[in-house]
Amino acid sequence: MATKHTPSLVTARNILTGLRSIMASPGNAQAKLNHVVETIGEAVSSEVCSIYLRREGVLELFATRGLNQEAVHVTKLAFGEGLTGYIAKNVETLNLDEAASHPDFQYRPETGEEKFHSFAGVPIIRNQQAVGVLCAQHIDPRKYSEEEIESFQTAAMVLSELISNAELVDVESVDAPNARNSGADRLSGLQLVKGKASGFAVFHQPRVKIEHTVAEDTEAERHRVYSAFDKMRSQIDQMTNQAEFGVGGEHEEVLQTYKMFAYDEGWSRRINEAIDSGLTAEAAIERVQQHTRMRMRQIDDPLLAERMHDLEDLANRLLRIVSGQMGTAATMGLRQDTILVARNLGPAELLEYDRRRLKGVVLEEGSLTAHVTIIARAMDIPILGQVKNVRQIVRENDLLLLNVDENALFVRPSPSIEDAFETQIELTQKKRAAYAELKAKEPITTDGTRITLNINAGLRDDMAMLSLTGADGIGLFRTEFQFLVAATMPGRAGQLRFYRDVLDAAGEKPVIFRTVDIGGDKPLPYFQASEVKEENPAMGWRALRIGLERDALMKVQARSLIEAAAGRKLNVMFPMIAEPWEFDEAKAVFEKQLEYLRDRKKQLPLSIRYGAMLEVPALAECLDQLATRLDFLSIGTNDLTQFLFAADRSNPKLAERFDWLSPAILRFIGRVSRQADQLGIELSVCGEMGGRPLEAMALLGLGIKRLSITPASVGPIKAMIRSLDLGAAQEQLSGILSDPPNDPRGALEKWAQEHQVDLG
Ligand code: PEP
Ligand code: MG
Repeated sequence: MATKHTPSLVTARNILTGLRSIMASPGNAQAKLNHVVETIGEAVSSEVCSIYLRREGVLELFATRGLNQEAVHVTKLAFGEGLTGYIAKNVETLNLDEAASHPDFQYRPETGEEKFHSFAGVPIIRNQQAVGVLCAQHIDPRKYSEEEIESFQTAAMVLSELISNAELVDVESVDAPNARNSGADRLSGLQLVKGKASGFAVFHQPRVKIEHTVAEDTEAERHRVYSAFDKMRSQIDQMTNQAEFGVGGEHEEVLQTYKMFAYDEGWSRRINEAIDSGLTAEAAIERVQQHTRMRMRQIDDPLLAERMHDLEDLANRLLRIVSGQMGTAATMGLRQDTILVARNLGPAELLEYDRRRLKGVVLEEGSLTAHVTIIARAMDIPILGQVKNVRQIVRENDLLLLNVDENALFVRPSPSIEDAFETQIELTQKKRAAYAELKAKEPITTDGTRITLNINAGLRDDMAMLSLTGADGIGLFRTEFQFLVAATMPGRAGQLRFYRDVLDAAGEKPVIFRTVDIGGDKPLPYFQASEVKEENPAMGWRALRIGLERDALMKVQARSLIEAAAGRKLNVMFPMIAEPWEFDEAKAVFEKQLEYLRDRKKQLPLSIRYGAMLEVPALAECLDQLATRLDFLSIGTNDLTQFLFAADRSNPKLAERFDWLSPAILRFIGRVSRQADQLGIELSVCGEMGGRPLEAMALLGLGIKRLSITPASVGPIKAMIRSLDLGAAQEQLSGILSDPPNDPRGALEKWAQEHQVDLG
């Protein structure tokens, strides 16, 4: 339903009708701009209407009605200079009854503007930057009405289309890839996956480029925006109802705010009014968003700034729906070396990207042990997390230099920063080459203990890492990755082929397959594990708990693994075991399949070894019961830490709260290690902790002799092992366990330095 037409709407409409016919008429750009200032000036009964555009880094008067015509292309202002410069620099609107009263006022005699008192100006925006200013001046000292200002803003929106089509401004510096500025931004965050990379910014959810601003048919535009609202609201409702989002805290809060904004009548009314003024649906959404952005900028409240993210997300979602540009950047394909920018990513979303072009990731959220981080680590893709406002600061196609090692993201770097970065990349490559030389050397401590160094894997491509790193085997093969990348549940034939390929690629080296660990932060889009809304998915219906209930899932996997390992050795590991009976039941599923295949005279594996992951602290209390039943035990420090500290591993707020080198963890692992020794249980560690040199040193000091780590860590960890006196480290750790210092990390670092341990 159309809204009532107020006089101001009529003004805005008249302006737009005028602009549309100017844009459609023949003639050069200058003539069109001259015509535009006349049309707008007349519509708002203003003596003066002027357009300044950005050219060669300054604002140049391009057209005016009411000021001296000799000033056109002569009057130039720097960004920040005078009222016009102020508007452009701050991307802000000014509305003054007495221009000279503003501290930034500057008088330009060539314009003849001394007789005008009132002044109003709005930025002409493209890609969230000012490319010009539209302003009006009046002899009477009067403020322009809110409605008049809104018509200026609407006109500025259309002007932005006109001037970019006519290539009147420095659009290259706004739109072009590798846009630079002299004062490059350096942002920092939380180091999630170390490494360095350069590339062009791509938004995981790309911003929509608005091609047309003036509507041909207002009713058709209204209809488009209404159905987009319907679609967006039902998407948000669906998200709210999905079990995986049903947790308390962050997600819930975000969704509630989303919902509130999505259903906000004020928002839809303002968009509707902008459509009434003659804008297209896309331009109306953007126009309202620009207005909100400006208002928010004036309010210095971090909480509101947070909410602004949500509103931006939502407006962007609405824009994508209305323009039909729905997919993520992955579905559109990457065209060049890319640094991906997102609020957050799921593991499956990351896997959709082309690995050859995806060089790095920057997130506004993110935490160290979230699965997306683990996958990126396995793929050797650096990630910087918790970079505040990165989606506001970075623009699509900006050149970005990502140096997670030094916690830095350079946005639009200067050539000198780029040169320095190149040098650093070369140095890193040299270091890598040095690690590669260690490939053939064994991980033996200086006092002669051979450590087993395995790698973690999950994708077919990871198998190449076995020979590239010289690792002893695969200590954790996360089979669920295959489920995460598939569009539908992988069947038996597909699984069988995949596991066989993995074993073929591993050759003589052992592979420990972990049965599917889905649920938690690894939901499968095509599989609803739980009918009930889960308040705490990480502690809920996940991993083996699903496997034992939906035993078809586990049976198919067991059968595929056994068949794939025909004539070879098979190692199977069960995740999230909390009590011995769970291990027994899981093992029984395999034994039953084995029997079935034996009855049918199929070739069987030479041997099967069964292991459990120690991720739930309760299991540590039952090791004596398990000792005779299992063949090996592997500590998953990611989940173990989560449960030991009751700290959600994917909650960014908790990402840095607890340290892997805290006495609680060290004592826990030390005790398990001693017990496993006494009970004769083969023990290893396969969580992310083992891939960090200082933490790995502590683990060895606690008696751990087998590590399974991310491939990129093999070089640094091997270098650490080969420089370590294990006996001395064990003594040091036992001192730390019995009398923990205030800062165990600092104490261990100091000790390592004094004992020349290579920590990379
Ligand atoms: C762990 O929890 O430490 C682990 C290795 O498993 P994942 O990270 O896949 O949960
Ligand atoms: Mg785990």
